[in-house]
Amino acid sequence: MHAEVLVVGAGPAGLAAARAASKNAKVTLLDDNAKMGGQIWRNRPDLKLPANVQWLPSSGIAGVLDEKTLLLEGKALSFDQVILCTGARELHLPFPGWTLPGVLGAGGLQAMIKNGLDVAGKTIVVAGSGPLLLAVAALARQKGAKVLKILEQAPTWQLLPFLRALSAGKILQAAQMGPQTLLGYNPDAYLLQASGEGQLQQVICQIQGKTVQLECDLLAVGFGLVPNLELAVQLGCRLDQGFIQVDDTCKTSQKGIYAAGEITGIGGLDRALLQGEISGLAATNQTIKNLVPRLRASQRFVRTLKNSFTLRPEVLKLAQPDTIVCRCEDVRLSQAQQHDNWRSAKLHTRLGMGACQGRTCAPICQILLGLDSPQTRPPIFATPLKNLLLEEEP
Ligand SMILES: Cc1cc2nc3c(=O)[nH]c(=O)nc-3n(C[C@H](O)[C@H](O)[C@H](O)COP(=O)(O)OP(=O)(O)OC[C@H]3O[C@@H](n4cnc5c(N)ncnc54)[C@H](O)[C@@H]3O)c2cc1C
Repeated sequence: MHAEVLVVGAGPAGLAAARAASKNAKVTLLDDNAKMGGQIWRNRPDLKLPANVQWLPSSGIAGVLDEKTLLLEGKALSFDQVILCTGARELHLPFPGWTLPGVLGAGGLQAMIKNGLDVAGKTIVVAGSGPLLLAVAALARQKGAKVLKILEQAPTWQLLPFLRALSAGKILQAAQMGPQTLLGYNPDAYLLQASGEGQLQQVICQIQGKTVQLECDLLAVGFGLVPNLELAVQLGCRLDQGFIQVDDTCKTSQKGIYAAGEITGIGGLDRALLQGEISGLAATNQTIKNLVPRLRASQRFVRTLKNSFTLRPEVLKLAQPDTIVCRCEDVRLSQAQQHDNWRSAKLHTRLGMGACQGRTCAPICQILLGLDSPQTRPPIFATPLKNLLLEEEP
């Protein structure tokens, strides 16, 4: 298979890239999900593509075969230009009780509700850091859940630059979440522990200096986002402060490879759409001139987001020696602490050797223990062996 312009990831950035590029080229857009939309537009029914965009659903890129060819589940897929829009995943941080049934990732709960999970009548606490917490709480409430509290670890003074940077549209969006959601929002508040008999029953948290116990059915926790860099790194793209380095045209350090959206910096929907459009236009030799000033402004928002939701030292110290840090392989903090690099910890404890291949525990060990990041290697996702073998061409 060959693509003139290949777009990997059909979230907002990928969709915008495909639309823009399709004005001047034949485009192939793929995603490992069955439907387009990425994280924020998951299951949105009204997403449409121009006729000259070929859409490949449920198509995960498992690895890189050479600089112009990717491994697409048993098939080689070559390209002239590629636009990487692989997005981000949630950052999880361990605390006592985080592996109890009933404790979920905030984005995980959001995805489950969007896929039909019934939360009507459930009592939910939402905790962690970042704007995603409000979106999850608003959705859960809209579906009939009782959201007791939203615990944002950042203190109010730290959040002020973020509030000042919000566009009129975002302020309106927040207002539409309703007074109940907004009143439940507590800055300067963080979890201490979750507990229950085989199932979450209560959480203990610190709210503006006071220790509070809350009875609940579900706890949704997220501490920010981690970019999905694996494919870009395997293609040799250079990093800048933990994200894919791009110029004003969204070009990476590698010829013919562009990147857009959350893998270039956590900056929200508007920036993902803008970068998607720029990358699609630039990859197909169309002008982007009038979009560059908006792109630079969006980079200021990336910095504001990062500073406003910087994690406080207390949440980095919640895990106790017996708290599990790698939940695929049941590795505890005290075991990981005995190693000063990822390789040694992995070889001695099986850290990162489970189904998630370190996607969850590697960021945890970098942040809590200062371990280096694991070398990325194929497969990018856990995948059946048959997908790693190339099918014979007919
Ligand atoms: C769990 C979660 C929930 C979020 N919810 C909200 C929200 O409610 N409101 C909000 O404003 N923002 C939300 N965000 C942030 C939002 O995703 C961004 O602001 C923006 O929309 C990101 O767009 P994107 O196109 O860069 O990435 P995404 O929307 O993440 O899209 C990336 C797509 O690439 C696919 N992909 C990744 N790797 C591969 C591969 N190797 N092969 C094939 N496909 C691949 C992914 O499955 C995904 O569909 C959320 C983020 C996360 C992680």
